[in-house]
Amino acid sequence: MERGILVVISGFSGAGKGTIMKELIRRYDYFLSVSATTRRPRTGEEDGKDYYFHTREEFQQMIDNGELIEWAEYVGNYYGTPKKYVEEQLANGRDVLLEIEMQGGMLVKEQFPDALLIFISPPSAKALKERLTGRGTESPEEIEKRLLRAVEEVKYMKEYDYIIVNDVLEDAIDKVNDLIRYDHYKACNSARMIEKMEREIGGFSKSEE
Ligand code: ADP
Ligand code: 5GP
Repeated sequence: MERGILVVISGFSGAGKGTIMKELIRRYDYFLSVSATTRRPRTGEEDGKDYYFHTREEFQQMIDNGELIEWAEYVGNYYGTPKKYVEEQLANGRDVLLEIEMQGGMLVKEQFPDALLIFISPPSAKALKERLTGRGTESPEEIEKRLLRAVEEVKYMKEYDYIIVNDVLEDAIDKVNDLIRYDHYKACNSARMIEKMEREIGGFSKSEE
């Protein structure tokens, strides 16, 4: 069995990442990493399901203990990826999805050069603003902060392997799924198969001796 693929999914707040992720894990056998955060839960969000909600002190402790693969500050709160489950799932051959912002994405890229980096973009800035406002989970001030953050984040788009435009939701879900499926055929994700063929093909020269 090959190791699973580590997939980083990023995009401006309101681009539709969460919506796409929910559908991917509902339909397929992906493991969605649950992040730790210091932000307050939104209505309906559950501890351990949407995020692990922590105080700043607890979060700092996780950093100090080396429990996070990466972490970043986003609009006044900390967000980070717990190491334990990600490593376990990858070793078990399961593809792991990290829905994280771009600074964290860049840190993962450094540590895991074979990770697949996908950027989810809205079709336009207007659509982004409409979606973020339409979601109705943030105050107008918070929305403004998130849009200003997007101004800084746009420079990271070109660092990603693929840009998927989330215009028609169903198409975007299929495209992200296809990218992960095809990534399995890369030589760097076929180490076991390569070893097996090296061993078996190597056997030809021995039988001729
Ligand atoms: P993110 O996780 O990137 O911040 P969400 O998944 O919460 O974004 O999506 C933001 C809003 O946009 C939600 O209300 C969601 O229902 C809506 N949305 C997501 N994808 C689309 C799409 N393709 N077309 C129209 N609205 C969408
Ligand atoms: P939200 O508050 O909307 O749930 O998330 C805000 C931003 O934090 C989003 O861009 C989201 O992808 C990002 N985020 C969520 N979890 C993590 C994480 O573990 N690490 C990093 N770096 N960003 C994260």
